[in-house]
Amino acid sequence: MMVPMTATRRDETGEEALTTVRSEAAFRAAREVMPGGVSSPVRAFGAVGGVPRFIARGAGAVLTDLDGNSYTDYVGSWGPLILGHADERVVAAINKAAAKGCSFGAPTEAEVRLAELVIARVPGIEMVRFVNSGTEAAMSAVRLARAFTGRDAIVKFEGCYHGHVDALLVKAGSGLLTFGTPSSPGVPGGVTADTLVLPYNTLSAAKDLFAEHGKRIAAVLVEPIAGNMGCVPPAEGFLAGLRSLCDQHGSLLVFDEVMTGFRVAPGGAQELYGVQPDLTCLGKVLGGGLPMAAYGGRREIMEQVSPLGPVYQAGTLSGNPLATAAGIATLEALAEPDVYETLEARSARLAEGLGQAARSAGVPVCQTRAGSMLCVFFTEGPVTDYASAVRSDTQAYARFFHAMLERGVYLAPSQYECMFVSLAHTDDLIESTIQAADEAFDEVSRGGSSES
Ligand SMILES: *Cc1c(COP(=O)(O)O)cnc(C)c1O
Repeated sequence: MMVPMTATRRDETGEEALTTVRSEAAFRAAREVMPGGVSSPVRAFGAVGGVPRFIARGAGAVLTDLDGNSYTDYVGSWGPLILGHADERVVAAINKAAAKGCSFGAPTEAEVRLAELVIARVPGIEMVRFVNSGTEAAMSAVRLARAFTGRDAIVKFEGCYHGHVDALLVKAGSGLLTFGTPSSPGVPGGVTADTLVLPYNTLSAAKDLFAEHGKRIAAVLVEPIAGNMGCVPPAEGFLAGLRSLCDQHGSLLVFDEVMTGFRVAPGGAQELYGVQPDLTCLGKVLGGGLPMAAYGGRREIMEQVSPLGPVYQAGTLSGNPLATAAGIATLEALAEPDVYETLEARSARLAEGLGQAARSAGVPVCQTRAGSMLCVFFTEGPVTDYASAVRSDTQAYARFFHAMLERGVYLAPSQYECMFVSLAHTDDLIESTIQAADEAFDEVSRGGSSES
């Protein structure tokens, strides 16, 4: 697909085309000083082509770029912004905390408050340790599971992403999937030798693996709703089956709920599906847009963490006061009545409208959704795992992406990511998104894009 550097789009009144000249200039400068011009790969628009929009500000569900173009945002900083951008409760909490000092490297009462909120909501968590990123949470959970069981092997699933932890960069999702790289140079073979990879949603494969290697397996690490190969919900009985395999073989079940935690239900996917893990990783929503993540679980296991136990794990900025304040404000806002019902209703309407738009344009898609995480795969489907996800027509997705962007809708610049609906996505914004999708799918079915 040919994508010129300069894109134009019309504003709502259909007049005066806006440009991307300032984003282009910023991108040129960025590429001189940062690999690919970005701080995280998928932001560079490599999978869809064109100029990444440099963002000036966000308010509610709307992003505004350097050139003054506005977009209804379905990326939401890749999941954290369930309340929308610059939610006034979160901003006020951050300001208040900042005025009292940005970091102490000493315990605060606010951390206790956040820990209590987490434990009250997430069924599988009795004690929690705060860290700074989902990557750190997954890395630490793996270390803890290995220490607790005295075993080395870890089971993960193809297409699931648990951050850029060396031992878990094996057929991971997201950027790696997008770039078609099965793993990364720089990860020694020895580090991944104890990582066993299974297809998602295939319990029989897990049973076979346990029959052979059960005694070696410290933990099964799984996204209870896969969100990093697009959205792939668990098959009926898949999570419960993993639970009983772990029980039979003395292995720990670790749910990576960095994306699903506080998003699909107050207690995450484990509450939604009624399956309780031994350890849980949290992040994204937990920090309300600031760097904050956590791992937690059964008391007996968490008591192994330093300084109470021998398993070392630490962090200069862990439990940072600003991030903690943003997390508390976010979790408190999510405790208001009807929050999850509202998210469900708007997400359902969006999915329905997108499906209708695709059908009337004759574009074959497979839709998936779990609460306010959703995906439109450009394949007939069904999509149940990595192998079926990668049958998607990523060229068609790229055309759709640009057609939507031109109409003021900001989707993830990759087929293999979720759309996130926030509480700031009003019914009107959802309807205008559906309208944009009507035209965008038409453009896809004609095989063109105004950017190509
Ligand atoms: C985003 C994500 C991570 C990584 O979190 P970072 O904060 O980006 O390190 C890990 N696991 C899952 C399921 C995620 O969605």
